[in-house]
Amino acid sequence: MSEFLALLRGYGRFRSNGYRDQHRRWETLAAGQEPPVMIIGCCDSRVDPATIFDTVPGQAFILRNVANLVPPFELGGGLHGVSAALEFAVTKLEVKHIVIMGHGACGGISAALAGHGEPDRIFIDKWIGLLDRARDQVLEAAPQDPQHALELEGVKVSLANLRTFPFVAEREAAGQLQLHGCWFGIAAGTLYELDEQAGHFQPVPEDA
Ligand SMILES: [Zn+2]
Repeated sequence: MSEFLALLRGYGRFRSNGYRDQHRRWETLAAGQEPPVMIIGCCDSRVDPATIFDTVPGQAFILRNVANLVPPFELGGGLHGVSAALEFAVTKLEVKHIVIMGHGACGGISAALAGHGEPDRIFIDKWIGLLDRARDQVLEAAPQDPQHALELEGVKVSLANLRTFPFVAEREAAGQLQLHGCWFGIAAGTLYELDEQAGHFQPVPEDA
């Protein structure tokens, strides 16, 4: 069976299960979306937020990119895909929460740790350059597991960058928007949440 055929068969299951079970929800959603949550995760095929958080259609506005990064607010040249999605989610959809979700065995984080210079990496190097300072700090601290340490630190970098967007900072200060940092461990399927006051990640209870 071709890999694409596997997708079409999945579509068949969606039509007979997922869509049929929730067809009224889909019909309502056709009029418009009001997701209360934005999730920013990694492109990695193993860490689909809809699977991990078991969301229903219309619940989460999801953005995925290499290493779940948010760039800082800037108006210079370039195509700002992340900033555009963020602006739409915050100012038009008025989401109440933004969740940054890092994960274990992240290839983008591995690339950031390995440093720049691979000739076939035209776009990735610049993108993960967002983590240069965090990488240097992690390497200087020489933790036992630099990969894991930078995966966690990357979530903090993205949260800090989120707060450089005026429309995010204003709403957070007004109590209209909450920011959250998470990290997902693939093998154990376990989610950790960042306690920003304490600066570390705690396992999320399964009956939260
Ligand atoms: Zn990743």
